Amino acid sequence: LAETRCLSCDFSSANMSGDNMPQLGGIQVVKVSQEPGRRYELDEESLARVLLRPDVRNLPVVVVSVAGSYRGGKSFILDFFLRYLKAPRDSQLSTQWLGEEDAVLEGFDWRGGGESHTKGIHLWPEPIIVTIEGTGEKVAVLLMDTQGTFDTESDMGDNSTIFALSVLLSSVQVYNLRANIGEDDLQHLQLFTEYGRLASTAEDKPFQTLLFLIRDWMSAYEHKYGYVGGEALMKKKLAPKPTQKKQLREVREHIHSCFEKLQCFLMPHPGLVVADEKFRGRLCDITEQFRVSLLELVPSLLDPNNLTPKIINGEKVQAQGLLEFFKRYVEIFNS
Ligand code: GDP
Ligand code: MG
Repeated sequence: LAETRCLSCDFSSANMSGDNMPQLGGIQVVKVSQEPGRRYELDEESLARVLLRPDVRNLPVVVVSVAGSYRGGKSFILDFFLRYLKAPRDSQLSTQWLGEEDAVLEGFDWRGGGESHTKGIHLWPEPIIVTIEGTGEKVAVLLMDTQGTFDTESDMGDNSTIFALSVLLSSVQVYNLRANIGEDDLQHLQLFTEYGRLASTAEDKPFQTLLFLIRDWMSAYEHKYGYVGGEALMKKKLAPKPTQKKQLREVREHIHSCFEKLQCFLMPHPGLVVADEKFRGRLCDITEQFRVSLLELVPSLLDPNNLTPKIINGEKVQAQGLLEFFKRYVEIFNS
């Protein structure tokens, strides 16, 4: 189905200018600066503009962060999160929230302009206010895009800090990985959760949900796409075994001890068209399989009944409180 649509989709008519261009979105709230002493720079003013908005400041927050290396498709998937959050409730309950076949995918800039090389934390400037059915409670959902690289030795400290900050500040951390869960991915995760733990005052497990999101999963014959296959893969990769080398076992035990909930989702490849420079994220260019997975993944995180409020020391954190935590944690990593 998707294939035939793709062929008929008029690729060449992609309007390269004006309103059809994906907007550059997201504000960078944490930067790595070159100044000694204040290595991690917080854009307090922009952050306050988002978190102290009169209709938002007193609401509990849900913070969904996507973290991982550059060009891993983080911003791309975040834009589908945004689409879901902005959709009316009845289209969230059907497949309509996915949008029009030929609509350009907008929100966080996902094609990697110069800016997106920048390590740091980006935030979607408009919190989305969601009413939880049943209780009628309102929460503010914030989307966070966290980027680092582990390309060189010197990147390690900064990236661990950036990742640590995002895991401390989020209620759901999506760890975006390509193809599989590698041993080095687990080691990096251990490193940045160790950094995070240092700054945390929690007595028990310092972090909430971690979701391994495996992009371009190629072995659906072995483990199915979605949560079912993800669960099986995670079991295989993350179980500490008595026969394992001590270091490998410790990495696994550490990860289990840090998070209240660990999940894994296997995402199919969106289709070869993504590599084309004219690709604008139109649904008609994305494989059916990828859409089906979006329909499973996105509501599992963002349906009003599935939202995970941010909790620190047993208390729900309100937007204005989150601002204070941003300041506190950045301060800790600067000292
Ligand atoms: P980010 O740097 O992690 O935010 O990555 P982007 O979201 O900017 O995406 C980088 C490139 O990967 C873009 O050209 C996208 O079209 C492409 N892309 C997005 N999602 C996927 C995916 O699931 N698989 C593959 N192979 N490419 C993707
Ligand atoms: Mg990006």
